[in-house]
Amino acid sequence: MLVTRPTTDTVAITRTFDGVAEATHRVIEQVGGMESVIQGAKIAILKPNLVAGRNAASGSTTNFDLMKAVAEEVRACGAEPVLCETPGTEFDRDATYTILGIDKFCQENNIRILRVDPEGGEADWMELRPSGAKKLKRFHIPRILKEARLINIPVLKTHVVSTMTMCMKNSMGILPRPDRRHMHAFGIDQSIVDMNLGIKPDLNIVDGSVGQDGEGPVYGDKADLQVLLAGRDALAVDVACCQIVGVEPRKIPHLKLALEQWGMPWFQIVGEEDGGVIKQFRLPPDKSLYRFAFWAMFPIDYPFSLIAKRGTHFVTEFYKTGIVGTRPQIQEEKCTRCGVCVDACPLPNVIDLTTLKINPKTCERCLLCYEACPEKAINVKGYSGAR
Ligand code: SF4
Ligand code: SF4
Repeated sequence: MLVTRPTTDTVAITRTFDGVAEATHRVIEQVGGMESVIQGAKIAILKPNLVAGRNAASGSTTNFDLMKAVAEEVRACGAEPVLCETPGTEFDRDATYTILGIDKFCQENNIRILRVDPEGGEADWMELRPSGAKKLKRFHIPRILKEARLINIPVLKTHVVSTMTMCMKNSMGILPRPDRRHMHAFGIDQSIVDMNLGIKPDLNIVDGSVGQDGEGPVYGDKADLQVLLAGRDALAVDVACCQIVGVEPRKIPHLKLALEQWGMPWFQIVGEEDGGVIKQFRLPPDKSLYRFAFWAMFPIDYPFSLIAKRGTHFVTEFYKTGIVGTRPQIQEEKCTRCGVCVDACPLPNVIDLTTLKINPKTCERCLLCYEACPEKAINVKGYSGAR
């Protein structure tokens, strides 16, 4: 990883009208080419946003064509592309990978998957204690990053907890679950800033090929931005992202803190856009009760994980009760028991056509069943609702 923050940065903005892969190669060229990023390293860690089992067409997760093009560029520089990412705390990694088809995609494109121990076992992780950190004073990153380059590939979208998520927030997905719990419990916004004192991606490429506004990051509205942004400085790229969606960066709590503590980064925009608004984003409504309820699950997790089986967390278990979370429900009066939803579901033992129940323990809330049902017999319950 870069050890110092660049004093100036180039932020490239390119449109995806001719295809995401073509735009990816172009935007990498516009920021100086992949060779200037790899600089002889043998490994490049690709850190996409795979927050949940919702495909890139929903604007929730990183586009596969983008990841494939980045992997090609990395390999052309003589380095090995390695994917490392853990979904949101309330989702299961293996089930999310199954729904998204990550194993197949990586196998077909010669990308190694690094499945680090999500609980932070010593073999996989090294500790960082960034100087100047205020809340997240120590945390862990995969040991492999000592030698590897880090290519951050977030999605440009809103976030019901952190208002927006782009480059700075995306690095959370390479921290072990106990560190992510600290971040939530002790203040997510300052923790994101502290995390970025220690993690400085060598390159950020933001996927705005679709993106989400409204109640992102999983069930927001598809934004259809058709744009990619790239740059070396995560804060500079995030500020540029805000510009093109008409959002004042200081309205995003972690960006406000970063700007107060580090100052406004100087950057120049290159590419096909001048940094003007492409689409005005609708930020998520400020639902304080929801934020408090989500936050409260993390302090509870400290005593919970002491008595629970290793790898079991209160957040995950609470979502599995079916009491919280956006989730599908079959309406008996409309259902013809055609079985289309069962075929559409990528996971086994979730939908029971005899009882018409969806098992909240095994359902990962991808909503593919809801989208596939020809009778519109599946409702989506929960906080945000799917569109
Ligand atoms: S796809 Fe719809 S109608 Fe068919 S079994 Fe599932 S819920 Fe019922
Ligand atoms: S039941 Fe529906 S929402 Fe749940 S995992 Fe299966 S397809 Fe996804």
